[in-house]
Amino acid sequence: MSVKINLARLKKNIEELAEFGALETGGICRESFSNTDLAAKRWLMEKIRNAGLMAVRDEAGNIWGRLGSKKRSVLIGSHIDTVPEGGVFDGALGVLAGLECLETIRENKLPCNHALEMVAFADEEGAFLNFLGSRSMLGSLDADEISAAKNMNGFPLAKAMADAGLNHRRIVSARRDPSGIKAYLELHIEQGPSLESAKIPIGIVGAIVGIVSYWVTFSGEANHAGTTPMTMRRDALSGATEFYRRINAWIRSNPGGVVTIGKMDVYPGAFNIVPGSVRLALEFRHSSATRLEKMESSFLEIGNTIAEEMGLVFTADRLSWDDPVSLSNNIIGTIRQETDSLGYAYRLMDSGAGHDAQILAQKINAGMIFVPSVGGKSHCPEEKSNWCDIEKGVQLLLNSTLKLVMEYTDPK
Ligand SMILES: [Zn+2]
Repeated sequence: MSVKINLARLKKNIEELAEFGALETGGICRESFSNTDLAAKRWLMEKIRNAGLMAVRDEAGNIWGRLGSKKRSVLIGSHIDTVPEGGVFDGALGVLAGLECLETIRENKLPCNHALEMVAFADEEGAFLNFLGSRSMLGSLDADEISAAKNMNGFPLAKAMADAGLNHRRIVSARRDPSGIKAYLELHIEQGPSLESAKIPIGIVGAIVGIVSYWVTFSGEANHAGTTPMTMRRDALSGATEFYRRINAWIRSNPGGVVTIGKMDVYPGAFNIVPGSVRLALEFRHSSATRLEKMESSFLEIGNTIAEEMGLVFTADRLSWDDPVSLSNNIIGTIRQETDSLGYAYRLMDSGAGHDAQILAQKINAGMIFVPSVGGKSHCPEEKSNWCDIEKGVQLLLNSTLKLVMEYTDPK
């Protein structure tokens, strides 16, 4: 296959998209349904139309591009929302690589037995609801979950969607019939150090870790910081810090998974008040469902033990549970063949980060390609991948896509 992707065009698109939500630190803040995210999505729809493709925004805020009118399609996707101080490439690379593949196929008039689609899924990073867009597409969100969803500041999803011209009650109409999609491909930066340190340009993903998130709270008694003796305090923060220490010790003696407390809110939150309650954002991951369950029961037990020891109250509210997911062996096989044909070195690996592919893989044959992250850094302004690796990744995405659209013919 001699058709090549246009790296200069892709690079220009990535640089243009990076202007939406650009921070002085060099990072990007483009949280889902924020004004910058909406502006970026308008820009993306324009790009899709300019590439000669059909552009659509669905009721979940997903942006779609389509080439061809055949019933079934091969879909390439990712997301363009970011974490509050994220980088240029996470998600954006996969979406714009999808656009690049469709544009290359269209301008070279390559024959396809199927339609081709690209998508930017809404709220992959979970500002309001993890994988909102991809879960809407599969119809796996329920109305209560949507109505209850709020961001870190307590702003409701329903209101954010209304401000974006979307009605949260109509998310259900974003559902797609999975049988209409032959395969889903996602190119993504690795977001870890493995490929770079091994000097391997391509990762082919076998499984994606399961991710569980909780709000856990320690409640004690707010009181005067000067007159309450140290021995008579019910300090919620002492429980929270002990919890942090013990779950990290647990994971060191049970290696394989990861656990993070990424946010801590201390209430009422003043110099002169003993903390009355502390809320922690707890998240843990593992590629085995059994081990994930073990982590959950152990952490809850640790929380309850500490509360009992310190005279506090421990509560835990599970926000999300995403099972570990194995990707399609057939698609992995296709990507491996194409990697061999291109002569690129690759590694089969698991993904420690969550991706829309794990949602789609529940009902659609899905595959993922990784390119190295410089210094293994991601979700930060320093996030970077080298253009020579990106070129390989996108070329492999194009060749794998072409293989998939050509290798089967629809019976109907
Ligand atoms: Zn991502």
